[in-house]
Amino acid sequence: MSLKENYERILQSLPSHVQLVAVSKTHPAQSIQSLYDLGHRVFAENKVQELLLKKEQLPSDIKWHLIGHLQTNKVKQIIGFISLIESVDSEKLLDEINRQAEKIGRQVPLLLQVRIAQEETKFGLEISETKELFQRIVQGEFPHIVLKGLMGMASFTTDLEQVSSEFALLKNLYDQLSRIQPLELLSMGMSSDYALAIERGSTSVRIGSALFGERHYTN
Ligand SMILES: *Cc1c(COP(=O)(O)O)cnc(C)c1O
Repeated sequence: MSLKENYERILQSLPSHVQLVAVSKTHPAQSIQSLYDLGHRVFAENKVQELLLKKEQLPSDIKWHLIGHLQTNKVKQIIGFISLIESVDSEKLLDEINRQAEKIGRQVPLLLQVRIAQEETKFGLEISETKELFQRIVQGEFPHIVLKGLMGMASFTTDLEQVSSEFALLKNLYDQLSRIQPLELLSMGMSSDYALAIERGSTSVRIGSALFGERHYTN
């Protein structure tokens, strides 16, 4: 299937309240340009270096999301242009984003990444940590960020019951927090599980391989 066919098929399958974030990691700038030419504007990368290299070669009205673990020492490289940091997984990182955003006089949109997967390896805040940071954000402790919502990744498993219950857990937390301060983005669902994520309340899906094809890692 061509990129165009994949794109159109995926767009058609998304309800109008769900945004598509095209995950372009490992794919060349040329592939991003092709999707851009079809009208798409929202792309996500998981590595700062790769993001910066691609950004340089591509149109300036692309909305870039960062979806990978972000080291505090790299925050200043993206703070000026990033549309959404989806992977805020520690207080230390939140602090640094707030600090760098203040320096340049910007309010930076972000999501708190919550660890919902059973697997030990995934980054993310525990539910209790998420609630605590949320309270502190609501109380105004981080005035140079804008909390847009939550992000989560389900376990890498074919057990759909498992995946479904992990999404439900995140949706539940999202609803709880939304009653305190309205949120607009619940980022969950990837190529293999986005339909299920949408059933469980996702408003933003991060799709890579179902759009661009398989990833080939060179290192
Ligand atoms: C790579 C990645 C995706 C997209 O994965 P696909 O299975 O290719 O759709 C989504 N979210 C995050 C955080 C990723 O790192």
